[in-house]
This record gives sequence, C-alpha cells and structure tokens, in this order.
Amino acid sequence: MLTLGIETSCDETAVALVEDGRLLGEKLATQVDMHALFGGVVPEIASREHLRVLPRLYKELLAETGKEPGEIDTVAVARGPGLLGSLLVGVSFAKGLSLAIGARLIGVNHLWAHLLAPGLTGDLCFPALGLLVSGGHTHIYRIQSSIEFELLGRTLDDAAGEAFDKVAKLMNFPYPGGRYIDDLGQESTPDKKLFPRPYIDHPSLDFSFSGLKTAVALHVATRPDLVFETMADPEAVANLAEDKRADIAKICASFNWSVADTLRIKVERALDSMEGVKSVIVAGGVAANSLVRKTMAGVAKKHGLELTLPDLALCTDNGSMIAYAGWQLAKAGCSHGLELEAIPRGQVVPLDWKISSQSV
Ligand code: ATP
Ligand code: MG
Ligand code: FE
Repeated sequence: MLTLGIETSCDETAVALVEDGRLLGEKLATQVDMHALFGGVVPEIASREHLRVLPRLYKELLAETGKEPGEIDTVAVARGPGLLGSLLVGVSFAKGLSLAIGARLIGVNHLWAHLLAPGLTGDLCFPALGLLVSGGHTHIYRIQSSIEFELLGRTLDDAAGEAFDKVAKLMNFPYPGGRYIDDLGQESTPDKKLFPRPYIDHPSLDFSFSGLKTAVALHVATRPDLVFETMADPEAVANLAEDKRADIAKICASFNWSVADTLRIKVERALDSMEGVKSVIVAGGVAANSLVRKTMAGVAKKHGLELTLPDLALCTDNGSMIAYAGWQLAKAGCSHGLELEAIPRGQVVPLDWKISSQSV
C-alpha cells in the first residue's frame, strides 16, 4: 500500500511516500531561518509559507520516486495538534488530493506520529511506554499498539522543548536553541544544586517546566556578562571566549541535567505503575538531546526494557512519520471523510475515524 504523508503543523513543510511501512522518499522545507528573525514561530508567516511550498514539494516527491498520483492508496495528513492556520493548509491539500485521485483520506495525530517514527527504521515493541518530548508537548503515554494510545501524564505549562528554547533565548543563543544548550552542556558537568527539578514531589505523572525557566532567568540575571548582546549567530557561539565559555557551559549542563533527570523520575514512576510494558519509546525534538538519550538508556537498562529512539532526523517534524502513522491506521481499516477537521494546540485530537470491516 502506497501512503503519502503530509506535515504542516508548525514550521516544517514536509511530504513523504511510504510503501508498506518502508520509506520511498521524502521532501522537507524548513522555515526556521524566517522565524529565527523573530525568535519564535510567527503563525501567519508559517501558513503562507506552507501554502507556497507544499504543491512544489509534492510534485518533486512524485518525480523523485517515479510514482504517479493514481498509485497513491492513502493520503495521510497531520490534522493536529498544531498551529491552526498551518494545519489547514495541509488538511485542505490532503482533502483535495484524495478526492481528485480517489485515495483514502486519514487524519493523523501529529504526536502519535512522533512516537511511531522509529518504526520506520526498526521494530516497535508493544505495549510500550511512550515519552514525547517535543517543542510543544511533554506527554507520557501507554501505547498498546500503533493505534491505541492512553495519555498518562502531561506538562501543565511549558513543554520540555519550549523550556530549552526559552532558556536559550534568555541567553540570546540562536533560535531554536535546544541543540546549542546540548552541545555546550557536553563541555561541562552539571551543578545539581543550581536549578530545581520541578514538580518531582508531586505524585502525578505530570510535568511543570515554567519554574525551571524562571530559576535560570534569576541566575542569569546575576551574570549579565554571560548573555550574548544580540541573538547570536552560530559562529559567535562556536567562537565563544574561553573564560565565558566555561561558565555558560556549566549553566547549560546544569539546566540540561535538571530536565533530563525530571523526565527520568516521572518515566520511572510510570513504569512502576504499569504492567506488561516491553519497551520505552522516546520521541520529539528533545529526544535528540544527548543527555536525554543517555538517561533514558539507563532507565531502560535498569528496568530490563528495550529502548527505542528515532534517528536524529526523525526526531523533529517530518513527513515520513505522518505517512508511517497513516499507513498503520489505514492497515487497521481507519479513514476520514471530507469533514475531517484540523485540531489546534491545546485541544484533544478526537478518535473520529470510520473503521471499515475490510482492513487493507
Ligand atoms: P510539537 O510536535 O509538540 O508540536 P514541534 O514538532 O515543533 O512540537 P519538535 O520539532 O519535535 O517540536 O522539537 C523541536 C524542539 O526540540 C525545539 O524546542 C528544539 O529546541 C528542541 N531540540 C532539538 N534538538 C535538541 C537537542 N539536541 N537538545 C534539546 N532540545 C532540542
Ligand atoms: Mg519545527
Ligand atoms: Fe512535532
């Protein structure tokens, strides 16, 4: 079965073709440079840019993979959560295309797709504990199968990725700053007393990262010499003077540890209360973080579980994960009609697909 995946939920426009779970090709256009000028994603610019590049990416994908539109069986689209205007571009395109070529339409939960992404490069082992750590979400799920997710815990305020970006912004690192904190942090060791591990005393599986960001802000306020004067370019970070470099690296390492260890505590708590779990899946942009990867490897080892991490390119938004998740839903006989709605951030994505008795 040939599945087209379309991703326009935030600032990446992406399409991919997956044939029976195997990636045939993908195209991705990132808008990150455009939004970097503003230090964050500007929704109006994002949707206009999706509209401008999506048809071109689709045509290029078909040309590169040698496929004809009529060969596509399923059009899968990220229907949320995300920026509403951006999602509507992908959803409208998917509806028009599925109607024109007579393909099945399926709206995909973007967060599920993040967690299923490593299925493209290896086997997924269910039931799994899923930790989604992306720019907009920090969720813990029990994943029973590729199409059955139960949300167990979530952030009450900032997501882990958002905390990385906001802390990076405080110090005027280039946007998005998560990976600069990761890189510099590796040059130092954490001061485990410097910043709190928020909300770990609360017995739930929920997170709260906004206080951690404030703690870093208060600390940085005592050291204005460590803040770049303008949103620094990557070269300025690379050429940081030695004396400042060590102090900035210490802040990065300490903050990074606070986040990674908070994630560890809640994931271990979830594992203690779950039965029959065979693996831990960690996904989303923050799954690219070296300390998070290392910490989660330790958790999996301790609990005798398999750890599944996406390749770095599959951590952030891409079309392949949408095509793969869409293929899983299509295999189970799920489809949507043209009434499919886009779901903005903060709203629950409904399980409103139709299920045909004839699965494919
Ligand atoms: P969502 O899926 O919740 O809508 P998103 O798709 O925009 O959000 P992702 O693309 O999954 O988010 O992740 C982007 C986030 O990942 C950014 O906050 C970025 O700073 C962070 N990030 C990327 N690489 C790293 C890294 N090495 N260390 C820490 N954070 C990182
Ligand atoms: Mg992005
Ligand atoms: Fe995402």
